[in-house]
Amino acid sequence: MTEESKDLHSIQNLKGVGPKGASSLNNLGIFTIPDAAFHLPFRYEDRSFITPISEANYQNTVLIEGEIMKSTVVFRGRRMLFSEIYDGTGKLTMRMFNFAMAQHKALEEGKMIRCFGAITPGPNGKQMIHPQYQVFEKNEAIEIEKNLTPIYPTTSGLQQNKLKKIIESSLEFCEKNNLLQEESKNQNYSEFGNLLKTLQFLHKPPVETNLTDLIEGRHPAQKNLIKEELIAHMLCAGILKNELEGRTGPLMTDESIHEKDFLNSLPFNLTGAQLRVWEEIKDDLVAKTPMRRLLQGDVGSGKTLVGALAALHAKSNGWQTAFLCPTEILAEQHFSSFKGWFQSMGVHAQLLTGSTKAKDRKTLIKDLAEGKIDILIGTHAIFQLGVEFKNLGLTVIDEQHRFGVHQRFSMLEKGGLENQSPHQLIMTATPIPRTLAMTVYGSLETSVIDELPPGRNPVKTSSRPDSFREKVIKRVEEVCLTGQRAYWVCTLIEDSDELEAQSAEELYKEISTSLPRLKVGLVHGRLKKEKKDTVIDQFRKGDLQLLVCTTVIEVGVDVPEATLMIIENPERLGLSQLHQLRGRVGRKANTDSNCLLLYKEPLSLLAEERIKTMEATNDGFQIAEKDLELRGAGDIYGIRQSGLMDLKIANPIRDSELLEDAQKDALEMGKNEIEFAKVIVDRWIGNRIDYSDS
Ligand code: ADP
Ligand code: MG
Repeated sequence: MTEESKDLHSIQNLKGVGPKGASSLNNLGIFTIPDAAFHLPFRYEDRSFITPISEANYQNTVLIEGEIMKSTVVFRGRRMLFSEIYDGTGKLTMRMFNFAMAQHKALEEGKMIRCFGAITPGPNGKQMIHPQYQVFEKNEAIEIEKNLTPIYPTTSGLQQNKLKKIIESSLEFCEKNNLLQEESKNQNYSEFGNLLKTLQFLHKPPVETNLTDLIEGRHPAQKNLIKEELIAHMLCAGILKNELEGRTGPLMTDESIHEKDFLNSLPFNLTGAQLRVWEEIKDDLVAKTPMRRLLQGDVGSGKTLVGALAALHAKSNGWQTAFLCPTEILAEQHFSSFKGWFQSMGVHAQLLTGSTKAKDRKTLIKDLAEGKIDILIGTHAIFQLGVEFKNLGLTVIDEQHRFGVHQRFSMLEKGGLENQSPHQLIMTATPIPRTLAMTVYGSLETSVIDELPPGRNPVKTSSRPDSFREKVIKRVEEVCLTGQRAYWVCTLIEDSDELEAQSAEELYKEISTSLPRLKVGLVHGRLKKEKKDTVIDQFRKGDLQLLVCTTVIEVGVDVPEATLMIIENPERLGLSQLHQLRGRVGRKANTDSNCLLLYKEPLSLLAEERIKTMEATNDGFQIAEKDLELRGAGDIYGIRQSGLMDLKIANPIRDSELLEDAQKDALEMGKNEIEFAKVIVDRWIGNRIDYSDS
């Protein structure tokens, strides 16, 4: 694609996509209209027929249709909306915990309703919790789907239906403008006509398509794409490797003048593991080629400090460091640690996030370009146009799984100097199995911190069904009244900021009403930054004893005095996410911490297994392995969420039998078909790689 056509095909130019929509789409890695065509469903649902309620069995996910007999709001520990539905063969209750009054009103007696969801046993027999539904009049004819319904991975602020429409219009756009028509040399799309037709098929498979094949990624339409995507990633890793070998790293030969002072100023000694990995990193920093190192270490193992040592080393050698964080909260926290550590040494750290005021931003950009800032800590905001370093020598990427491949590449280009790339240190608490690491990172070196700071007692984890709620609330009160601090984490199925904020607010009301003796605070993603900061700060200082929160605290929040965590609806979260969350407690030496998983019954087998794993171990590596095992074959989305890879359709675990073949093709293409290789990389990974000097 030329620069011009890139602009022309920018997702913003699609009808119905505004700046806000575009930014949500960007979060999904969709920048151009063809990108949207590649945003494939992660599962499908069959909504092509209505199941009589009498024949709908527990655990089945089905479409039912009936008349609304009654809708009532009740309070049983929390607000709930019950709607009773009758279809002539049987009765079913729809139950919701998060709802607006307008929703209650619309679910009027006598109207018809069509619901799609899982049937579970409830207090009055069959029920559906938070199904997708549609209310209509008795005499209204509602069409039924003729294709399998695609379900897309999405992001907060972008509803499934809206995303579906955008993808539909992208496909139309591509068709009209003759895009993605290629019949590629190595991959055989002829079965479906061409690439675009293959994609169209996967976005809207006819109902007779074998659903199991689709779910397991074994449909021929998928196989073609999967292999190509794997090839693209391998090519990309290869290109990057060649590119890096041709470049020099920023020269950092001098010992850090400040290192000893800094280490002496800490109230503790580095662990053996921290010392070891720091030596490994130092060796990389003095080498000629740019470092590309992955630092793995469990939650709480002290990775930040190692990153800080590297930044200090860069500063001593006259280089700037960019320290990238996935969330504002984490960036702020690192900033405050760095200030505490470094200010007195004359090392200048600054913070840049989406919330930085325009005026401050201007000054900051100027100072950065003039080299007055040594360490810039920040979020995605660092990628924005206009943020230029004078001499970037090191990039540290914290919790890598939140950043896409694009962004990692784009940081390599931020060096500003030709033929030179900054050193790159990627830190993660999510271990990456070797086969995956090779595909994604190519020749990335790995260091592991396999030891926690001394005195850390493992967090004791237990679980209770929601019927223990009252008792749990009492227990939290007792614990907090002895001077300890606690988190109460509220989780949500749907990835929606707004709903999540709503339910966190409800929970906050419930808890603060039941516990008048405690000082309770609330943080969620929808709060203004100032408010968020204030609340977390109050919690840190102990002015608040209980913090009701959403998973916004998942990465990085460090309040060692917090020793108890309640996680609501843990069944909704993956293992790695649960482990990350739990890592917020157990941070104080020689102090016991507890984590309680307060789940809703009935648990699915998988959820039960996840909860058992959490109870059984605190070892992040074991948990990551179990996570992959439980996610099993079909869960591309999960793999992506766990951050192992930025993949659209391939799943290197499920598709492992394709890896070897793909590797062969990638090598061949990299040697003899470089033009075609570029097309493939561009297609799957985007246009962020600069080939100008390849
Ligand atoms: P993570 O690896 O999860 O990023 P952090 O870097 O946030 O872990 O460290 C967790 C906590 O442990 C912080 O409060 C940090 O100051 C502390 N810490 C780091 N290294 C040590 C050490 N060697 N001894 C004691 N505490 C440490
Ligand atoms: Mg960390």
